[in-house]
Amino acid sequence: MNRRTLLKSAALLPTLGAEAAIAPNLARKRSVRFAYLGDTHITPDAKPVERIAKCFHHVQNQADKPSFILHGGDVIMDALAEDRQKVQQQWDAWNGLVKADNSLPIEYCIGNHDIWGFENAKNDLLYGKKWAIDQMKISGRYRSFDRNGWHFIVLDSVQPKPDGKWYTGNIDAEQMDWLKADLAKTNPKTPILVLSHIPIFSPTGFFSDTNVKDGNWTISAGTILANTPDLLKLFYQYPNVKAALSGHMHLLDRVEYNGVAYLCNGAVSGNWWKSDVYQQTKAGYALFDLYDDGSVERTYLSYM
Ligand SMILES: [Zn+2]
Repeated sequence: MNRRTLLKSAALLPTLGAEAAIAPNLARKRSVRFAYLGDTHITPDAKPVERIAKCFHHVQNQADKPSFILHGGDVIMDALAEDRQKVQQQWDAWNGLVKADNSLPIEYCIGNHDIWGFENAKNDLLYGKKWAIDQMKISGRYRSFDRNGWHFIVLDSVQPKPDGKWYTGNIDAEQMDWLKADLAKTNPKTPILVLSHIPIFSPTGFFSDTNVKDGNWTISAGTILANTPDLLKLFYQYPNVKAALSGHMHLLDRVEYNGVAYLCNGAVSGNWWKSDVYQQTKAGYALFDLYDDGSVERTYLSYM
């Protein structure tokens, strides 16, 4: 190699490396476009009802319209310690809004605030997740389905603590067995998207210095799942797992790890309707484009 060739190749290398990492595959085709809405935290009050209606209209008025909505959980403000009537009013507000202002199909994931966990309600048939499952009209607390060549796995990440009180974040043993079987029976050429309300893997757990105690970080399992290491190992065995979406934190991030894009997707309610921004993340929703080569693109939009 002469000096000139050496200089030329040295000058080209960094550019080529960077382009190789970010350039999309031009031959890829889009499989599906959907809108991710999460942490809507509806109440019967005027502000959330008007804002969520505005958000639904924003989604449906897109020139390149998504084919469905994926709701990442926390549909309602809170059912955990509320009485039956208050919980019913929140679900009624949601269902009324969906009927009046949305024509897209919605696929739901259960969030911690959707679960009726009132201690006194334990003998009630609607106790726990049952009421949310009924309202969301989903087949169970976790499930999977296919859309245009992609496989979607919706997990139930919210579990009672060992003392029976709500809640902590993990994928319980029964669900883990189901997840392993579902991954094993999916065609290895089919790209997979996983959705959990509580993030599997996200730096948003580091956003608050209240998580530092005695000079050490303490990340609660109510923030990042307690069995994340098991899930990372499991996904590593299945290179067709391409994306893992979450809500819960009301914050926006994207982490690439072992070929999986972990995306936390803000919140429609921003700071639980107290303001339009939480930390540095504005109230909003995301448009997702999934491609046949397994690549994932997200656009986060303010709907105000
Ligand atoms: Zn929330």
